[in-house]
Amino acid sequence: MRHRQGNLRIKPNSVLRIALPLCRIWPILPECGRRRVLIWTFTHKPMRNVVIIGSGCAGNTAAIYTARANLKPLVVSGHEAGGQLSLTTLVENFPGFPEGINGPDLVENMKKQAENFGAEFMHGAVIDSDFSARPLRLNIEGEWVETRTIIVASGASARWLGLESEQKLIGHGVSSCATCDGFFYRGKKIMVIGGGDSAMEEANFLTRFGSEVSLVHRREEFRASKIMLDRARHNPKIKFMLNTVVEHVFDVSQHLVTGDRLRNLKTDEAWDQEVDGFFVAIGHIPNTRVFKGQIETDADGYIISKGGARTNVPGVFHAGDVQDRIYRQAITASGAGCMAAIEAERYLEAEGH
Ligand code: NAP
Repeated sequence: MRHRQGNLRIKPNSVLRIALPLCRIWPILPECGRRRVLIWTFTHKPMRNVVIIGSGCAGNTAAIYTARANLKPLVVSGHEAGGQLSLTTLVENFPGFPEGINGPDLVENMKKQAENFGAEFMHGAVIDSDFSARPLRLNIEGEWVETRTIIVASGASARWLGLESEQKLIGHGVSSCATCDGFFYRGKKIMVIGGGDSAMEEANFLTRFGSEVSLVHRREEFRASKIMLDRARHNPKIKFMLNTVVEHVFDVSQHLVTGDRLRNLKTDEAWDQEVDGFFVAIGHIPNTRVFKGQIETDADGYIISKGGARTNVPGVFHAGDVQDRIYRQAITASGAGCMAAIEAERYLEAEGH
């Protein structure tokens, strides 16, 4: 086992073996040596069995399983605590809830269930990682934590267009979640950006509320599957605007979306259009930036699975949307959290912990 500079590795049962000789040499230790020992004693945190990164369905389910296996997991909630479900309203397809359940309630129930078995939750996010040696190390809000295993359940965040006006109006008419915010645009003008399945799904869903839904896509070809595209095309409330991009969202000075400026890339014609709800559905970005160079990812940043819940790093497991770009459902994320927990448990057992 490698030792990193400035980090002493001690197993709990070997504390006595170190403490006794230390007592003997304490009187002859130089001042700086004593200071080092004291600093280490008061700052050194016990090594964790499992740290779970992310508190959505995947992370919380992994927490329930590992806590129930008595591994006392630490769950780092992340910037979007509760994951995607905390942004939704009614979840109707999570098995076991015939009447449906609110997303935030579902995820909160999972958290309580994990806490009942001894899982510890902490606010904040992982800002750096070091998997080059054992134990694995994570920098959580500036403090390094050591752990034998890690379950990466950090999910994927909505991709934005990146316009300054768009960013300033998030939550004031700009949204990335039709399920969460569609309700607010009853009888209003809605615009959806994107040409993938998400955009088709959101546009279709939003026709339940909006007086009209414009679907803006930068090309003529679609990434969306044929069935989803056909459904949107056959919906009389959806108007397709192709080869078109958004250049600006109005009106930042009113803190409210009132419209946007569009441009047709083929004709170069630009025009302003009145809009009340502006929904960006151009995909997601997996939250793997802090593992760059540590865990193998594909070109888009999704973790490459090495089978089951394994990553290329022994002891580091994946769960949920951070690896899954296809299913991305609450139930599949929960299933993946369960798989990762079982793998972590078996890994620890094989390592003799
Ligand atoms: P996606 O398939 O990657 O599509 C993203 C769309 O956004 C593309 O049309 C892309 O345009 C456009 N886009 C990306 N960046 C843009 C930018 N800066 N400006 C303007 N447009 C931009 O993402 P997704 O639709 O979220 O789907 C992700 C995965 O989830 C897919 O595998 C999909 O099948 C799956 N999914 C399935 C369902 C379902 O089955 N019910 C529902 C939703 C999602 P270009 O094509 O020009 O690059």
